[in-house]
Amino acid sequence: MADRRLDLAFLARLLELEERQGFQDRAVLGGLSGLVQRWGLAQTRSEPWHSLGRLLAPYSRLDPGRRAAVLQAVRALLARGGPAPPPADPPARPAATLSPAPPADPAPVAGRPAKTAAGRRARPARSERPAPRGEPAEGLEAPVVRLHGVGPTYARRLARLGIRTIRDLLYHFPHRYLDYRSRRRLSELSAGEQATVLATVISLDIIPTRRGGLRRIEAVLADETGQLRALWFRHSDRFPLVIGRQYVFSGPVEREGLWLVLRSPEFEPFDGRDLVHTGRLVPVYPLTEGIDGRWLRGLIKRVVERFAPLVEEFLPADLRRAQGLLDLPTAIAHLHFPATPEQLARARQRLAFDELFLIQLGVLVRKWRWQSGAEAPVIPTDQAVLRAFLDGLPFRLTGAQARALQEIAADLARPVPMSRLLQGDVGSGKTVVATAAMLLAVAAGYQAALMAPTEILAEQHARTVQRLLEAGTAPALLAGRRGRPDCPRVVLLTGAVKGAERRWLLQAIAGGTADIVIGTHALIEEAVEFHRLGLAIVDEQHRFGVLQRAALRQKGYNPHVLVMSATPIPRTLALTLYGDLDLSVIDELPPGRQPIVTRWLGPEERAAAYDFVRREVQAGRQAFIVCPLVEESEKLEARAATAEFRRLQDEVFPDLRLGLLHGRLAAAEKEAVMQAFQRGEIQVLVCTPVVEVGIDVPNATVMLIESADRFGLAQLHQFRGRVGRGPYPSYCLLLADAPSAEARQRLGEIERTQDGFALAEADLRLRGPGEFLGTRQSGLPDLRVASLTDQAMVLRARQAAQALLARDPELEQPAHQALAAQLRRFWHDRIQTDLS
Ligand code: ADP
Ligand code: MG
Repeated sequence: MADRRLDLAFLARLLELEERQGFQDRAVLGGLSGLVQRWGLAQTRSEPWHSLGRLLAPYSRLDPGRRAAVLQAVRALLARGGPAPPPADPPARPAATLSPAPPADPAPVAGRPAKTAAGRRARPARSERPAPRGEPAEGLEAPVVRLHGVGPTYARRLARLGIRTIRDLLYHFPHRYLDYRSRRRLSELSAGEQATVLATVISLDIIPTRRGGLRRIEAVLADETGQLRALWFRHSDRFPLVIGRQYVFSGPVEREGLWLVLRSPEFEPFDGRDLVHTGRLVPVYPLTEGIDGRWLRGLIKRVVERFAPLVEEFLPADLRRAQGLLDLPTAIAHLHFPATPEQLARARQRLAFDELFLIQLGVLVRKWRWQSGAEAPVIPTDQAVLRAFLDGLPFRLTGAQARALQEIAADLARPVPMSRLLQGDVGSGKTVVATAAMLLAVAAGYQAALMAPTEILAEQHARTVQRLLEAGTAPALLAGRRGRPDCPRVVLLTGAVKGAERRWLLQAIAGGTADIVIGTHALIEEAVEFHRLGLAIVDEQHRFGVLQRAALRQKGYNPHVLVMSATPIPRTLALTLYGDLDLSVIDELPPGRQPIVTRWLGPEERAAAYDFVRREVQAGRQAFIVCPLVEESEKLEARAATAEFRRLQDEVFPDLRLGLLHGRLAAAEKEAVMQAFQRGEIQVLVCTPVVEVGIDVPNATVMLIESADRFGLAQLHQFRGRVGRGPYPSYCLLLADAPSAEARQRLGEIERTQDGFALAEADLRLRGPGEFLGTRQSGLPDLRVASLTDQAMVLRARQAAQALLARDPELEQPAHQALAAQLRRFWHDRIQTDLS
């Protein structure tokens, strides 16, 4: 009974506070209605608790006027010691705990939606039990404004850090830690160290300075071994130190004249409690304007203590044990406030595993769904047709090409839809492999589609594919077999094709008379109906998102899908970014390729570079000049390129035939320019970065890139891949006026390195995985703890995900429900189409 009296006293104090605060329902975290629920008052028969519960249960959804009335009634009840009105509901179980809620209490939210409270009251008593599983989740999703000390202003500022809910706060991790662990006596300090001391304030002076309103604050601190001054600068006359009190101070020790001082140390009262800002590994958080580090640290400390225990463990217990990982609440708590570096390392390990594991689960589930859906068409390898095609080529496939083609053909022959990434450096010969695969589809009576990122490339692909097919006897063989003279028919569909021609094309595609359809993503975005699409190929994957791949499937067919990329991606990254794809790599260039001599030139060497271009042209070769990147708009970029073209033609190369290619030209004009360049009529092609991918002109030997420092390594390597495609020695000249230190590293790297994979590794090292491909663009969730380049951890996570999905591919087992929920939350809206 003593306990209950104590609780009554506690409640009375709360109510007093509530009244003083103007009935805002902020006297207790979670609000008074929440308190009623936590204390289980609705379930008890004993008085005065039962009556109190009935009075206070709706409190949080009342307006302040009604709240005042309720509190008056409660006070009256307390004063009377509580006559017992008959209970409304017989409680289903003995009175729930009557002591104030422990920190792990599941009802943190004030102003719980009225609907919930009402709904609960209406339902049978059994459901009124606090639900230990459901409730916490709701609590963690509560907006931060429900926390004490966080009003609308701070909530807005926190939102700038991406923090909206209590869960977001728990996952707002420190980006570094200050090591304030070793506590020293004042007599032991020396200049230059980071020190933590336990000392009493013996004097405090606040001295105005001449700098606008700034105060110099000087305190003298003392312990049993000596004294020390501490200094701060503030704009306020108030400073929260009290003379005579003991505090822990942490900060740098500096020498000022003869004396040592503690410079702007953090401090907090020493009352034997857990230290937050001093005397430990102190977390340092990413901040934003209007959010003070100390304030945020204090807030997070409170939130971690109270809410970290509520975070649901979503890893199945056996997996956690097998991986030797900390439980989630502990890991979160230790990542914020580690006692030791070892604790921190283990916390990091757990949370990094979580991120990589959830990524792997996401991509693997996606792969599984893709492959376990409707059956794909079976496309047997027609050896006769394939041989006829290969025999007609002017070259033999390299070993790597042959291997890739074999892997693709094997996939096509199975009823499981292929999802494969064909990776090969620029010029490694992916187009031939793609053409052979499309031919196999056609030979089996299906259509094939090839999507390119730009119209220029789509047009070029159409020409190349047509030419490759016509070179051999495969078409004749097929035509004979199908009794159709014009087989296979290649059509080009881009946004530029309009009117009657477009209608005719769409009909040919829908009717099945078009066998191979080449185009831009207009192919998947518009109302294009295929007759029997068997194979879809996407060129230059990095320009296509995962969602576009998914869009294909949503058109209602389940074709085999091959994506091709000339951006070599280090293996670890590929496992993550394209973890849902099988991988074929063409890691060998066709024989006879010339190494491309790459030189990085300063502005004073521009004239020499132009001379070099002229000499090559006079020797019968051709050149590209790439204009600077203009990010603002294609229109501005086109205008800049036009001006540069004029200048080059009029002032620099009046004797040569120059051409201009930019994204704003009409398709027919682009086509005309490209053809003229291909035929050698244009000697120097001035272009915007649209040439980045794919263009194939073997007679071109010079690639001159303006403002090369503004491009990434992968892009520079792509440009460079436009030359050196014929038998002639080739050159890449990089002009950079005032490169940054980081750009210098990149330019140096590309000068030294020919191999695309090695460059990709370097790029990854220099820019980090976020920048490397742009995780946003790649459709991956942001990582807070893990690194995509942590190969060991990525592999570990992938294996764990594979093992789990092998047993439960749809995450349907009860033991995997929390995991499935976390997976949805983690991937959010990014792959909704697949995972929701
Ligand atoms: P990418 O992989 O960059 O798309 P392409 O398919 O455009 O490369 O091929 C680049 C050039 O190499 C083309 O001119 C193509 O005809 C030629 N080529 C492809 N495979 C071979 C080979 N095995 N031997 C010689 N030349 C080849
Ligand atoms: Mg290509």
